[in-house]
Amino acid sequence: MKVSKRAQAIPPSATLAVTSRAKELKAKGVDIVDFGAGEPDFDTPEFIKEAAVKALKAGKTKYTAEAGIVELRAAIAAKLEKENGLKYTPEQVIVNIGGKHSVYEAMQATLDSGDEAILPVPYWVTYPETIKLAGATPKIVQTDKKNSYKVTPSQLEKAITKKTSMLVLNSPSNPGGFTYTPEELKAIAKVLEGTQVMVLSDEIYEKLIYGDTKFVSFASLSRDAYDRTLTLNGLSKTYSMTGWRLGYAAGPLEVIKAMGRLQSHMTSNAVTFAQYAAVAALTDTVADETIEKMRVEFERRAEYMAQRLNAIEGIECPEPTGAFYCFPDVSSFYGRNINGVEINGSMDFAKALLEQANVALVPGLPFGCDANIRLSFACSIEQITKGLDRLQEWLSP
Ligand code: PMP
Repeated sequence: MKVSKRAQAIPPSATLAVTSRAKELKAKGVDIVDFGAGEPDFDTPEFIKEAAVKALKAGKTKYTAEAGIVELRAAIAAKLEKENGLKYTPEQVIVNIGGKHSVYEAMQATLDSGDEAILPVPYWVTYPETIKLAGATPKIVQTDKKNSYKVTPSQLEKAITKKTSMLVLNSPSNPGGFTYTPEELKAIAKVLEGTQVMVLSDEIYEKLIYGDTKFVSFASLSRDAYDRTLTLNGLSKTYSMTGWRLGYAAGPLEVIKAMGRLQSHMTSNAVTFAQYAAVAALTDTVADETIEKMRVEFERRAEYMAQRLNAIEGIECPEPTGAFYCFPDVSSFYGRNINGVEINGSMDFAKALLEQANVALVPGLPFGCDANIRLSFACSIEQITKGLDRLQEWLSP
């Protein structure tokens, strides 16, 4: 049977490729330390599971409005107002089947062929593919290590052309582990004033921030920023709900409505009883305390992992200020031979490390940054210690 050109052009998610090889080795009984995970290692909090069970027992098992139940859209709008300073009506909110689906639908709803979408490096692997699926072109913008890989106003200014339709911002960042400061975002907002560029602001890691890092929503910076921004978020990371598939978008009514029309033909609504669980996650009084416990644990691991990585000669790692990833530069090892294997980039590095020292991590290349590797600290301190001991030994036997 024929496979469409569109589908042929899509590579599988590179983050999943390493994890599947690691799984294969694990299945053979090999003791793998897995730094590949893109999801919290905690279980979903009990009060959220109970809300889903209650909804199931109450017969919440039928279709809902395609944009989601009103209670959930109202809870999201209230959360955005209270925590993010963003005023949206429930009609300006749509619930999607995970944040990934929000990204896909947002691209489909806003991009046309011939459009360019600016993508600062490093970027989450799904952005370029969903931009291309919408017929548009990713405009990759290189960033500097010395600026923790954040795009600067002048880099952005240079990248904008008549064709630019979108800037993708993801703060805190996967894979970079960095978070833009409010001042940095304001400077970006200033560059965009008077242009036609919309901002897709992926804020899915907003609650996972460390040290004295402050999170602000891009749309909250000014009236101009509000009008040009589509805010994306979801429950996967904050509430440890990756398997529930709940993401959402909020923004200009015409875009949310367009996403709704697309969704009505793609998936209809997000899983009905999961939506009720999401209402509990966003409104229950125990939520803050529960997620703060997870955040504190991530913070402890972030500090430890970065400090251990920086202690290895040849590795440079900015301390993560958000998300759950360290993104060190390991390019000083490129060109070297490690245990008979020539290391010529992040793919070689990740592959050899997995096969020889049984540590799984994700190469930087699919994130647009071949000098780097991504290590997730969504695993226990014991695993981090064991994995970094192995990495250290492998690099300096
Ligand atoms: N945005 C970013 C930056 C992510 O890292 C992820 C998950 N890897 C998502 C969105 C989507 O997450 P989900 O589909 O589980 O909601």
